[in-house]
Amino acid sequence: MNLLSIDDLDREAIERITDHAARFAEVSDREIKKVPTLRGRMVLNLFYEASTRTRGSFELAAKRLSADVVNFAADGSSVEKGESLKDTVLTLNANKPDAIVVRAPWVGTAELVSGWTDAAVINAGDGKHEHPTQALLDVYTLKRRLGKLDGLGIWIVGDVAHSRVARSNIVAFQRMGAHVTVCGPPTLIPRGIEALGCDVRFTLDEVAGADVVYALRMQHERMADAPVPSLREYAACYQINERRLTARQILMHPGPVNRGVELSGGIVDSPQALITAQVQAGLVVRMAVLYTLLSGPRAQAPLPEPQLA
Ligand code: ASP
Repeated sequence: MNLLSIDDLDREAIERITDHAARFAEVSDREIKKVPTLRGRMVLNLFYEASTRTRGSFELAAKRLSADVVNFAADGSSVEKGESLKDTVLTLNANKPDAIVVRAPWVGTAELVSGWTDAAVINAGDGKHEHPTQALLDVYTLKRRLGKLDGLGIWIVGDVAHSRVARSNIVAFQRMGAHVTVCGPPTLIPRGIEALGCDVRFTLDEVAGADVVYALRMQHERMADAPVPSLREYAACYQINERRLTARQILMHPGPVNRGVELSGGIVDSPQALITAQVQAGLVVRMAVLYTLLSGPRAQAPLPEPQLA
């Protein structure tokens, strides 16, 4: 079983993972923050692209479940000597990992990897395509805060064109019953995105109607040409700041934030921002994903029982 795309999960499967995550959140509050669930299993983190939150939380998630973790980063590996993705995967696969968590700048990498291994493959971001565990942790964060997503209006604002988060989150939020609108300059909204079921707006004029504003990072590393005249002009029209966010609205962002570009510094630190809660959710949701994919007959222990106070 793999997690390559958020489309691999129907609503019931998403609910199951977020329910498991809630159980694991309880483990994080214990003095001993470890459970033996995946003892003797091996998780390989294969990262070809920068990551702070995702890589760290997958590593910690695997450790909290008592799995062995091997971290592979392209820097300092034989990739620098010209080893191909396939040869790298086949080499690392010789140690028989049970799960491979893969991030790469190329669309479709996780799916390719899944063809070369029997391990469960988890897509931790493939170019501008998908980032399914981000979508799951965002669903979890909103459920914790609001109980459910049914009927919510969620605006995803900014660089949709280069955002794997946008693609996974549009699908996940709608699957959970929310109504999604994407908003940004026409050059950063892919043509035909409505086919995913969302609405499109090119100005923030109606953003006050949103319950949740989900801002995206300007993804300079994926912009070959300049899709906006300048970051100052972008910020003037699309920055989420104290003037544009009303008191009842919730703010989310996948990180890393460009303060002063897509978000004002003040709004990042405001109580309306769930950005830290999203990071915390990353750990327990990734524990739940590893548990779901690896807890076959070989898993050592069932889900932790809630502890009585
Ligand atoms: N951390 C997220 C990602 O890897 C969002 C971002 O980089 O802007 O896609």
